[in-house]
Amino acid sequence: MRQRPAHPLDDHESPSRTFARAWAQRLHEVSFVPRRLGRTIPLLQDLTALLAAALTGDEPDPAAGHHAGTALVEAQLWSPAALRASVEHIHTRLRSDLGITHPDAADRLGPLLGAFTEAFAEGVRAVALTETDDLRRHERATAQRAVLQAEQERQHALLHDQVSGLPNRHALTEHLTTLAAKSDRLAVCVLNLVRFAEISDALGTDPADALLREVGLRMRDLAVTHGLFAAHLGGDEFVLVQAGTRGPDDAVKLFDLVREALAYPWGPAAHPVQLDAKGGLLERAATGAVAGELLRTAKMALTWAKSDPVGSYAMFEQHRHDADRRRHTLSRDLPGAVRNGALRLAYQPIVSLTDRRVVAVEALARWRHPDHGEVAPAEFIPLAERIGLLNRLIGAQLRAAGRHALKWQRTGRPVRLNLNVSTAQLTDPSLPAIVGEALDETGFPPDLLTFEVTEESITTPQASTLAALAALGASFAVDDFGTGYSNFARLHEVSRTAVTSLKVDRSLLASSDVLLTTLVTLAHGLRLHAVAEGVETEDQAAHVRKLGYDHAQGILFGAPAPPDEVAALL
Ligand code: C2E
Ligand code: CA
Ligand code: CA
Repeated sequence: MRQRPAHPLDDHESPSRTFARAWAQRLHEVSFVPRRLGRTIPLLQDLTALLAAALTGDEPDPAAGHHAGTALVEAQLWSPAALRASVEHIHTRLRSDLGITHPDAADRLGPLLGAFTEAFAEGVRAVALTETDDLRRHERATAQRAVLQAEQERQHALLHDQVSGLPNRHALTEHLTTLAAKSDRLAVCVLNLVRFAEISDALGTDPADALLREVGLRMRDLAVTHGLFAAHLGGDEFVLVQAGTRGPDDAVKLFDLVREALAYPWGPAAHPVQLDAKGGLLERAATGAVAGELLRTAKMALTWAKSDPVGSYAMFEQHRHDADRRRHTLSRDLPGAVRNGALRLAYQPIVSLTDRRVVAVEALARWRHPDHGEVAPAEFIPLAERIGLLNRLIGAQLRAAGRHALKWQRTGRPVRLNLNVSTAQLTDPSLPAIVGEALDETGFPPDLLTFEVTEESITTPQASTLAALAALGASFAVDDFGTGYSNFARLHEVSRTAVTSLKVDRSLLASSDVLLTTLVTLAHGLRLHAVAEGVETEDQAAHVRKLGYDHAQGILFGAPAPPDEVAALL
């Protein structure tokens, strides 16, 4: 049993003195040599300060452990149990009692106790050599055995989780390292209990620890039955390792075993707790595998599993990892790109099918990344949306496009400008203000501005934003028409306001004439222009013209191009 500090609430006593007092009491209970507590406590308090400093200093300092071990022997506090009691006391209480939160403290504790035990053992050996008294020699022999035992216990404590007793991260690393050297393939399965934080909050700390012990037992049973290695990384994170697998399927089978083992409930019959886990799986050739890397990749798969609302496991896949990394890099660099104007606009003409005159130009975002080259808007627009950049972007786009369009206008006739706005942008109530400001700044006439929006954003009520943009004088085109679900009633309602055209998605160009004709009829019924997207050949142009389409857009009439090139088309 742990002893409580003598005066836990005495605010005149420092935490280090409380710790030293409890330590002294334990030593005196197991000591042969009569000593006064009053003499031991100050010594131990000095040692406590020394050990604490070694855990929190800039550098690890095993010499502190060495000094403490020697000091105990010199003070003749070297009975068999004294070492054990000291190691246990320091191991379990030093960090918590002194409130040590240094991030390296846990990792430093092991080597520190190692130095402590070694110095203690050396000290006891030295005394045994110099003293000849038989009786004391017997006592010392016992102490030396205790040193050995304490060393074993320390090793156990270093390699096992304190709650479940399963091998811990150090032991797992050692195991993976040996395994990588001697087996062909291996599987690693990292587990996280589902809703553990919630269960733990409901149960309290001690029952939560009991639950973790239970899971530990079930994992140990699995390991014994199936020749696996089970480890506990702390918290609710467990790992199973299997050697000699033949492919990813074996890792999935391993995870199935885990779920089976967790399937039956735990706790009192009246309030059983249903256990379940999410798993990150990795199965690969063992050659060249490094323990830390194996664990990192399996954990990566675990984060995928956790973010999956349906599946309970995920298998590590290099290409998915690469995609994650790319997304991460792009998201990191995007804000800078928007700030520095590295995002540019390309312009694509939309022409009348009767005379091929340009009726509008659509502005499309372009980004050339220094390392990844040209990145498609389909990739970076959703990222910009996720990091909340889109409306900053649209302000910048409107200013740039407005300036370009006004320049074209000076050389020819007014140019209608089409700008894409995503559904997320339309839900931001600050959008109309941003647009209004940019229009004021550039002097671009709002009645020449068309926002291309998807069916989804026009049929799910964004009424106030749409109305505010319409009030500025802008109009709307329904983009990618025919790919989403259509709410005709709502479409009819908004078509009476500021919607001017339906842009039929390029994917429908290859579909039946019946469908293409229906969409034209619908557009004209609502008094909207029908625009065919993605027209690449003269045949296609002739075909959509015959079906009644008014306008068309596609590489036949001009691919998206820099502003200067577009000017030539106008
Ligand atoms: P979208 O609005 O449907 O734009 C048309 C897309 O089709 C453009 O792709 C364009 O380059 C491509 N395209 C044009 N003509 C042809 C053709 O003849 N054949 C084929 N196969 N493709 C053609 P892009 O530039 O990669 O843009 C993809 C999508 O990204 C756009 O689809 C739009 O939804 C979105 N997007 C682009 N720029 C922005 C932006 O600034 N803001 C927002 N919110 N979305 C944007
Ligand atoms: Ca568009
Ligand atoms: Ca489109």
